[in-house]
Amino acid sequence: MKSKVWLSSPHLGGSELKYIKEAFDANWVAPLGPNVDGFERDLEKFLNEDVKVAALSAGTAALHLALIECNVGHGDEVICQSMTFSASANPIVYLGAVPVFIDSEKDTWNMCPEALQEAIEDRISKGKKPKAIIVVHLYGMPAKMDEILSIAAKYDIPLIEDAAESLGSTYKGKACGTFGRFGILSFNGNKIITTSGGGALVCHSQADKDKTVFLSTQARDKAPHYQHSEIGYNYRMSNISAGIGRGQMEVLHERVEGRRGVHSFYAELCKNFEGVELFSEPNSDFYSNHWLSVITIDETKTSKNYEDLRLAFLKDDIESRPIWKPMHLQPIFKDAPYYGGKVAEELFGNSLCLPSGSNLSDEDKERIAKVMIDVFSNKKEYSVLS
Ligand SMILES: *Cc1c(COP(=O)(O)O)cnc(C)c1O
Repeated sequence: MKSKVWLSSPHLGGSELKYIKEAFDANWVAPLGPNVDGFERDLEKFLNEDVKVAALSAGTAALHLALIECNVGHGDEVICQSMTFSASANPIVYLGAVPVFIDSEKDTWNMCPEALQEAIEDRISKGKKPKAIIVVHLYGMPAKMDEILSIAAKYDIPLIEDAAESLGSTYKGKACGTFGRFGILSFNGNKIITTSGGGALVCHSQADKDKTVFLSTQARDKAPHYQHSEIGYNYRMSNISAGIGRGQMEVLHERVEGRRGVHSFYAELCKNFEGVELFSEPNSDFYSNHWLSVITIDETKTSKNYEDLRLAFLKDDIESRPIWKPMHLQPIFKDAPYYGGKVAEELFGNSLCLPSGSNLSDEDKERIAKVMIDVFSNKKEYSVLS
């Protein structure tokens, strides 16, 4: 029987169990220990910038703490890219703040600098200067960082990078997640590397890292008894999860190469289909880990839409998925302010995420190619009436 082809499944390297065994042998079965320290060091080295990394229980937790450390509180406004996973926006609401959503631009599908500038000006004119900006490097594609950083600097608003999908991506040679005041990473099971579930906050000073660790371990003041002057959270990564992370860090470069190889496979395949375009870097400033490979389908040329392809894949037990539905179109955020046009909305209407794991076999790729050739080569349905 054929096995299911997943969109993006965990791809273990081999030494994860070694680190977990060390943790068991030394009885470090807790949200601290040598694997947590080691995983943080590995990430700092990989990001190759002068950063300090705090390992946490989830990317969402990292974003929550980043917003707290940017002093976001009740009634504040925070700017957020609209086309993203809801976890980019939810922590804004955890804090009683209001998200202000921004459209995408067509080159990287990430935050549109013009719409960002317009939003900041308009919010300031309404008497409310945004407290932070959350930019996302969607599907691994770096956002237009020069433009966005310069706008953030011009208005003196801290930038938080949601790099949950972009570990291993770079913009002008610099790692995604290291540009902003904070960067967040995710190691959920579907990401480029996993700790089964986990995240990290990328900081630029030891003081910010110390504050993050303090808040993530229940905010205990220095005292022999339990004393608290601030509200804390239980957000630290466990030493067992971090053991998986250390094993995964040994193969991260290979995983990036693997995903980029899958993207190249789709690039070759898509040359055969008119009206099917693979989402790719606009120029060599942008280096994507291609966490997910995504195509846009021109229905006027193919007479097919993404749902036709998704259902054809499903028949052969191949998983694919529509792209993130923009946040400003989500029922829960329907009243949130929004700036921009219909770029994100239109991309959502004609794009599909394809199986992208670094563990896709040649046989999996053959199955995928066969379905796509079936769907796109037979462009016009023959009508029995004509
Ligand atoms: C996965 C993801 C997150 C959340 O990370 P978790 O570790 O699952 O909490 C946040 N933002 C984006 C864009 C993501 O893809």
